[in-house]
Amino acid sequence: MRRNTFKPDLLTAVRKTVNPNAEYGRSICCPFHRETDPSLHIFENQSWYCFGCGKGGDVYDFLGFLRYGDSWDSRNKEMFREIKKSVDNSEFIKVYVDYNAQTQMPEISEETKEAFLMAAQTYHQALIYGMESGADTARSYLYSRGITDKTIRKLKIGYAGRSELHKKGITLRPDERTVYLEKMKNAGFIKYGKEYFSNRIIFPNITKSGDVLTLTGRALNPAAKRYLNIPNVRKKLYLLELADPEKELYITESVTDAVSLHQLGYSAAAVNGTAMSKQMKASLEAYKKIIIVPQNDMPSMNAACSWCEAIPRCRIMLPEYIDGEEKDVNDILRLEGEHTCGSKLRTAADNLLDCSDYAERVRKKYLLWSKNENQH
Ligand SMILES: [Zn+2]
Repeated sequence: MRRNTFKPDLLTAVRKTVNPNAEYGRSICCPFHRETDPSLHIFENQSWYCFGCGKGGDVYDFLGFLRYGDSWDSRNKEMFREIKKSVDNSEFIKVYVDYNAQTQMPEISEETKEAFLMAAQTYHQALIYGMESGADTARSYLYSRGITDKTIRKLKIGYAGRSELHKKGITLRPDERTVYLEKMKNAGFIKYGKEYFSNRIIFPNITKSGDVLTLTGRALNPAAKRYLNIPNVRKKLYLLELADPEKELYITESVTDAVSLHQLGYSAAAVNGTAMSKQMKASLEAYKKIIIVPQNDMPSMNAACSWCEAIPRCRIMLPEYIDGEEKDVNDILRLEGEHTCGSKLRTAADNLLDCSDYAERVRKKYLLWSKNENQH
C-alpha cells in the first residue's frame, strides 16, 4: 500500500499550464481533446477526470499527458522521472495527499444503512405515485429507454424531486419528522437545507435481502453533472449483489445498460463510470465467468481494455450496433426493442472475444478514428 506523501498541487499545475481560472470542484475545457463545453473536472482530492475523452489521474498524469500526449504512461519510469523532475524543480506548492484516506473508507454504519433504505423507499414511491411534472418526466425518460414498470419495481428505481425528503417529512408527525430529516442529513442526503439528489432518477444498489448499499442519481437536467453518487461511501458495482456467482456476469459501464441487461434476463453489474477500483475488482473474485460489454465509443473501449488488464480471465461481448446511432445496449433496446436486442445479445454471447483479440480490434479502430479526426 502506498504511504501518505507530499505531491505538487494539482490546481497550481492546471492554473500554470492551461487555465489560470481553474478551481477545485469545477470543470474546465479539456486540453486533451477538442471541446467548447468544459468537461474536465478537478476534484478536491487532487485528482482529475475528463468526462469527454476519459483521461484522468493525478497531477503527474495531467502534466504527463500535456507533455507526452497519448503516449504518456505513468508506469514508464523514464517518462515519470522526467515529469517529476520538472515539477520538483518548480515553485509548485506541495500538498499532503493522504492515500489511505482515499482508499480506505469506513464501512457504513447500521444507522446509515437504515437511512439509505428509507431514502430509497421515499424516492421509489415518488417515481411510482408522484403527481408533479418532474415525476412524469422521470417516468417518461425510463419508458423511453425501454425500461418497464416491472423492472422499475424490481430494482426499486426512484425519483427525487427538488425537495422529496422534506415533502415526505411533512406527512410525518412533528417529532417523527425531526428524527427523519436528521437521519437524512447525517447520511448526506440533505446538506445546508438542500437535497443532494434533486431532480434526478435514483438507482439504489440493492441486495437480495432488500438492503441498499449505495444510491446513484442520474440528472434529468442535461446541463447538470450526469451521475452523482452519495459522497463518502465507497463505490460498488451496481446490481452485483443480485447476480449469481455460478453464472455468467456481464459488466457494463453505465447503470442503464446493467438495468437493460437485467431486464432481458442476464446477470449484470455496472461500474458506473470508466474507473474500476481495486475494491470492485476484488468483489468480482467469486464470480466464475465474467463478460465485459463495452460501449461503442473510444473512451469506453479504452476503459474496457483497462478492465481486461485488471481481470485477464474475462471475455468480451460485442453486440452489433448500428454505428453512429447506437452506443450501448440500452440504445439497442430503446431503438430496436426487446426482441431484436435479445437476439443481438444471444448472437454476441455465442461469439465472445478474448482480451487480446479485443485489444487488437480497439487498436485498429483507434487508428481509423485518429485518421478521421486528423482529416477534419
Ligand atoms: Zn478530454
